[in-house]
Amino acid sequence: MRLLLVEDDAPLAAALTQALREQGFAVNHVRHGAQALHAALDDPPELVVLDLGLPDMDGLELLRRLRSAGSRLPILVLTARDALSDKVAGLDLGADDYLPKPFDVRELEARIRALGRRLGEASSSVITIGDLRLDTARMQVHLAGRPVELARREYMLLKALAEHPGRVLTREALESKLYAWGEEVASNALEVHVHHLRRKLGPELILTVRGVGYRLRAA
Ligand code: CA
Repeated sequence: MRLLLVEDDAPLAAALTQALREQGFAVNHVRHGAQALHAALDDPPELVVLDLGLPDMDGLELLRRLRSAGSRLPILVLTARDALSDKVAGLDLGADDYLPKPFDVRELEARIRALGRRLGEASSSVITIGDLRLDTARMQVHLAGRPVELARREYMLLKALAEHPGRVLTREALESKLYAWGEEVASNALEVHVHHLRRKLGPELILTVRGVGYRLRAA
């Protein structure tokens, strides 16, 4: 899952980024509200973790601007300030969850997963293409009724392709779903994931579109 972390406290942001990456999230971190607005609208992540006390903009103002721009991104609000009034204001402005500082990073991870599941369930969670079945709420894959174990990025790649069966997705589009901005990506990383998926799911499922990208064979 791609996260946008909006947090101006550098040591906290570094610790959260590292912990979340270890849990398999692709984290993009920004310090300022203006950067966050830009990132959230131009290249939307799957979830935003938003600190309310930012140097250039109140986090609640950022939340309001995002919602009024039509963004329905799931947003989890962090704040060290007077908890109750911020919580009420944040939820009123359309935050999806709320975590007061200080918190244990494991709680943040659990809240992010729970929010992801809730939203996944809300938007019909099973994709079926021929023998292939993806349960996106549970991150489970079955082929002809048998469970298939996938690594996290293999799963993310398969999901990206399965959401648009038959359509060609470019390398850039796929890489942006698998990696955070600025994350070091080996030039053959995508090929390696595709290779593993073909080994696990059969050679015919993912088709190479030479010079462009990949597509999933529509059933
Ligand atoms: Ca802050």
